[in-house]
Amino acid sequence: MELTLPLLQEQLKAWDGCALSTQSNPVLGEGNPNAKVMFIGEAPGKREDEVGRPFVGAAGKFLDELLQSIDLKREDVYISNVVKYRPPNNRDPSDKEKEQCMPWLKLEISLVKPRILVPLGRHALGHFFPKMGISSAHGKPQKLTTSANSEQTDDVTIFPIYHPAAALHNGNMRQSLFDDFAALRQFLDSQSPTS
Ligand code: URA
Repeated sequence: MELTLPLLQEQLKAWDGCALSTQSNPVLGEGNPNAKVMFIGEAPGKREDEVGRPFVGAAGKFLDELLQSIDLKREDVYISNVVKYRPPNNRDPSDKEKEQCMPWLKLEISLVKPRILVPLGRHALGHFFPKMGISSAHGKPQKLTTSANSEQTDDVTIFPIYHPAAALHNGNMRQSLFDDFAALRQFLDSQSPTS
């Protein structure tokens, strides 16, 4: 049977390869299955665990605002996470949890085939560029080299941005996120005027 995003969703529900799956609900990505841009967060939080959808809590509301600021809607893009289950008390996901969940993200990337991947924060950035820090990398497009690119080999750009949750209580960070989204818009327009 051909693998599709709905099928992946079903397969994730039956998966127990990560210890977090015994205490929280699976949250796969969602959005446009042909999105040109894919946003990748860290892991579901409380609200996401309850609803079974990514970025629907406070950070998600801010992400919606940021998308709106560059004339994008959730339906235009694909939104996912590195880790598919909520770590208890929203602690950072462990390296092991990230590694265990990574095949799901790789499958989502291979199905959606986005041209631009936007890691939101250090956990997602670390998958593509393990040595890069988010504070120096944010807002700057990077070509994915084959060494950092196990999903796709052609023409993928990584455009790192801070995690929206980092800005919820920090005004400077908030402005930095709006600036980075504006830079993302400019980058999209430079690729194709209609994106
Ligand atoms: N933070 C994330 O990284 N992902 C979500 O889905 C929600 C909050």
